[in-house]
Amino acid sequence: MPAPKEKLLDLLGMLPEEIDELLASEGLPPYRSRQILDWLYQKDARSIDKMTSLPKSLREDLAAKYRISDLRRVKVRLSDRDGSKKFLFVLRDGGRIETVLMHDGERDTVCVSTQVGCAFGCAFCATGRGGLDRDLTAGEIVDQARRARFDEDAGRLTNVVLMGMGEPLANYDASAKAVRIIQHEKCLGLGKRRVTISTAGYVPGIKRLAEDDLPVKLAISLHATDDKTRSRLMPINRKYPMKKLLEALRPLAGRTQTPLTIEYMLIEGLNDSLRQARELARICRSLSAKVNLLSLNPSPSGKFSPTPKEQALRFQKTLREADVLAFIRKSRGLDIEAACGQLSGAASRVRDSRR
Ligand code: SF4
Repeated sequence: MPAPKEKLLDLLGMLPEEIDELLASEGLPPYRSRQILDWLYQKDARSIDKMTSLPKSLREDLAAKYRISDLRRVKVRLSDRDGSKKFLFVLRDGGRIETVLMHDGERDTVCVSTQVGCAFGCAFCATGRGGLDRDLTAGEIVDQARRARFDEDAGRLTNVVLMGMGEPLANYDASAKAVRIIQHEKCLGLGKRRVTISTAGYVPGIKRLAEDDLPVKLAISLHATDDKTRSRLMPINRKYPMKKLLEALRPLAGRTQTPLTIEYMLIEGLNDSLRQARELARICRSLSAKVNLLSLNPSPSGKFSPTPKEQALRFQKTLREADVLAFIRKSRGLDIEAACGQLSGAASRVRDSRR
């Protein structure tokens, strides 16, 4: 009896060397592995049966042991404001995730999800409202990037950020594997500086990343310079307060393999004073980190207001005067609820009827 599909090994969750090894163990020549990789990363094959340069009997043999992650695209929204595109995918078990493709000059960046939902419940974020459903597999993470690459609106996919739904470092093994596959020259071939992991400050994951020396940019959502404010915004801070977080980050400071960026969402009257800017500058200098200043996006809570532009500019100036690289980032995909903190899997708990 054939194995149930979910038990089959997902080719998109494997590095080329692993595919080589598996095929070699079955007595297949190396060029078969090259053909499969070509179908996966150059031709967008969605099933083994579509790999028509392989003999039919071989495709049948392979399909009995392997599969290709098959995200089902059920909805696409296109932003009139900036051309961002949000995809809603349904997973094999009915879970829903969102993926966002953004254009910015020469850059086409895809923001991929790493979990269905999120356990961390940040106050400004729609994703965390329903809690965590499950972790994504490496293949499901890679597939989001691959689908964006083959989208008709993607020029040339230049950057990938693990910053969508979920905390990538709480799903460390799958996220790290996906990064390696995305960067591999035989897969999506994105350079080390073109892949970013964004964390809410999950200390055990940061420590693993430092030990593994994973070549990836790391963005830390800090959003506050003291524990009281940060815990109010991000409950994870109660378990991993700022002292522990900064200690975990310190070994990465100045490591060219892993450049650090602090993400700081400006919220009126809460974290946007010039005193807080000076404290943020001190933290950034100690980590050799640059800062992205983000504007608060509308979220279901409606508890907070964005910092007015003039104050945001003063905040940025204070950082720059303290020799910290600081940029004010534009929100993308606001009109299609695709900006930071707005991804929710569009009713991710509503299970698919074809489950
Ligand atoms: Fe989770 Fe990130 Fe949303 Fe926080 S901001 S709830 S870590 S997805």
